[in-house]
Amino acid sequence: MSGGNPCLSCGACCAFFRVSFYWGEVHSDFAVPEALTEPVSYTRLAMAGTNQPSPRCVALEGEVGTCVSCSIYENRPSPCRDFEAHDPGGACNRARAAHGLPPLEEPPIAA
Ligand code: SF4
Ligand code: SF4
Repeated sequence: MSGGNPCLSCGACCAFFRVSFYWGEVHSDFAVPEALTEPVSYTRLAMAGTNQPSPRCVALEGEVGTCVSCSIYENRPSPCRDFEAHDPGGACNRARAAHGLPPLEEPPIAA
């Protein structure tokens, strides 16, 4: 994979993990749309569709592994803001593998 943002042709993490966060994010500067969430506990919400045996966030548009976008990108919750391609823990590549996508190569080390 060369150059560009690998997430634009992936979306695997949006269709693999439960995306849960503190309920207050719907009232924070993020303004996560409450209508696209579902409760998972007294204090936490999840993006609707991600708390399922075969998760897929309702805000994910497009086809995983081909071309995707987040319909609430400017208002996405904190787990989505914090999640990184090339994350050290390998969560990105675990999600990709679950969708039959090859692992991302490590990014070049900055000089
Ligand atoms: S799994 Fe990794 S490459 Fe795919 S969209 Fe998520 S962060 Fe991006
Ligand atoms: S809110 Fe957007 S970035 Fe977060 S899981 Fe859903 S589609 Fe992906």
